[in-house]
Amino acid sequence: MKLVKLIANLGYGSRKDVTALFRSGRITDADGEVLYADDVVPYETIRVDDEPLDPPPGLVLMLNKPLGVTCSRKDPGRVVYDLLPPRYSVRSPALSSVGRLDRDTSGLLLFTDDGALLHRIISPKAQVTKVYEATLAQDLRGDEGALFASGSLMLESEKEPLAPANLEVLGPRHARLSVTEGRYHQVRRMFAATGNHVETLQRISVGRLALGELPLGEWRALDADEVALIF
Ligand code: URA
Repeated sequence: MKLVKLIANLGYGSRKDVTALFRSGRITDADGEVLYADDVVPYETIRVDDEPLDPPPGLVLMLNKPLGVTCSRKDPGRVVYDLLPPRYSVRSPALSSVGRLDRDTSGLLLFTDDGALLHRIISPKAQVTKVYEATLAQDLRGDEGALFASGSLMLESEKEPLAPANLEVLGPRHARLSVTEGRYHQVRRMFAATGNHVETLQRISVGRLALGELPLGEWRALDADEVALIF
């Protein structure tokens, strides 16, 4: 791909803007040598204003989503894309969140510009395990684990029962729940079906990829080995 198109697709501006960047000598190689639009150079050597180019297409990143932020592109309030570099919202192919977390759920949210990967992760066939930690308004009854594992729990207005899910009790009002589906408000509705109410909800892992020590509100790009942990 021509350099102007490649750099424009990364969100640095229109092709006209990027052509102007070349003309003003702001695009260089790693040694500070000015590059021209027709040059052919390795991606990782290109600098804009002395900064390395953003990652190429195929980007996968994880965000530790804070509370009160919506997984949509446009919302009167704060959206998850506001927590990423502004250029990431205008890249082509577009960077999208992999599924959604509720406004009042925190934790591990993936993003990618790789449509095939996105569909692979959210496909029901892939059965990727999502693990949540929930605090509850009332003490657990004791029978929730068996009910969630049964594969027969029907949520209101659903046609199919939920696939078996695993509950680990961490305290009287504290539990870890592993699910392989991604139905609307699934975890909150599962506890609601037992007469309880989820007070806080955090996603701590997707597949074998864990949130780890990533601070709330921060993001980082994933390498291929980390992406492989999702499946
Ligand atoms: N289940 C929910 O209820 N909410 C989420 O954000 C994710 C899973």
